[in-house]
Amino acid sequence: MEKSTKKRIAILGSTGSIGTQALEVIAEHPDRYEAYALTANNRVDLLIRQARQYMPDAVVIANEAKYKELKQALADLPIKVYAGADALCEVAEAAPVDMVLAAMVGYAGLRPTMRAIQAGKPIALANKETLVVAGELITALALKNRVPILPVDSEHSAIFQCLAGEPDNPIEKILLTASGGPFLHCTLDELAHVTKTEALKHPNWEMGAKITIDSASMMNKGFEVIEAKWLFGVHPEQIEVVVHPQSVIHSMVQFEDGAVKAQLGIPDMRLPIQYAFSYPFRLKASFDRLDFTRCNHLTFEQPDTERFRNLALAYEALHQGGNMACILNAANEVVNAAFLQDRISFLGMSRVIEETMRQAQFIASPTYEDYVASDMEARRIAEEKIN
Ligand code: NAD
Ligand code: MG
Repeated sequence: MEKSTKKRIAILGSTGSIGTQALEVIAEHPDRYEAYALTANNRVDLLIRQARQYMPDAVVIANEAKYKELKQALADLPIKVYAGADALCEVAEAAPVDMVLAAMVGYAGLRPTMRAIQAGKPIALANKETLVVAGELITALALKNRVPILPVDSEHSAIFQCLAGEPDNPIEKILLTASGGPFLHCTLDELAHVTKTEALKHPNWEMGAKITIDSASMMNKGFEVIEAKWLFGVHPEQIEVVVHPQSVIHSMVQFEDGAVKAQLGIPDMRLPIQYAFSYPFRLKASFDRLDFTRCNHLTFEQPDTERFRNLALAYEALHQGGNMACILNAANEVVNAAFLQDRISFLGMSRVIEETMRQAQFIASPTYEDYVASDMEARRIAEEKIN
């Protein structure tokens, strides 16, 4: 059979916010891209609809209890149907795959992303938790296997775009922009009483629930600082978070001559997703254009790490190195889920994360198995502190 000239993409987390937008990018360029595999955790209805529309070679539902339903619904089509966490890894490493879009949420994305790198697959990375948990291991593995990690996170895509054409020019500083989320100007007193409903209303972006809460608590920005360190090989001191509530500038790079380059655009994740797919080329796209006459008020301010402790905790984890960011991530996943279940207050989240970082065992040079054990230990400690 003739080899397809289209780039075949395995989408891990196709039913999520990033996953569905990635499918829109594929639909916009059917001559260039096709979905090789689509995967989901639980949302079997949407996965079935996506499979019928995009006709991938394979689909995976992580929750094995939903396998039968998926299998029956696609029985008339030549699509392979699998279930379980191992199957996720297997479709990511399958021979025909040209690129893996890691768009699962949380720690669960680590193993399939690692396996895809080991299989030599270029990674379009949305799942920032993978780099937060095991950035050192992942970047070393990518280097060894000569696998590019192309950022999908809008800030990191912006930095990556600013770095195009500057291969030998060192970065002096990264200016990582942050919207500041819905509680940017709340007092500590007000923050003590904010609710999940308020936290779920992000001013500029529509995203999955977990990252929306992380954005409100600024943990998302803390994670992005860690992500930037690993993607661009800079020191923590070279990453400055700049609060820019309008989210027009997606991030900036300052070079050694003092020049600052920025990437601007409307908040639309399809652009960074498409750039990761098409790099180093840009493809014509129908996305809305930035209208400068409507953004004549761009503001910038310093983040407040007293009200938003998570940002300080992320810098601390980065300075300590080892498994500390893995502990930070695990504790955050626990408190984030608890906040969505009304089991912990907004400010309680940072408190539990900090206490977990103090209590969990520090490992200076963790192996993959150490990360797995640290993740489990930190989750247990964080759970105990909530209850
Ligand atoms: P989401 O919750 O909307 O979607 C998550 C996807 O992962 C779903 O398809 C879900 O089925 C799948 N999934 C979740 N847990 C799983 C598990 N245990 N096993 C297998 N599959 C699982 O999340 P999202 O907003 O699309 O975010 C995805 C990732 O991209 C996150 O790491 C997030 O930080 C990052 N990101 C998202 C945005 C955004 O605009 N949404 C922007 C930048 C970065
Ligand atoms: Mg981001």
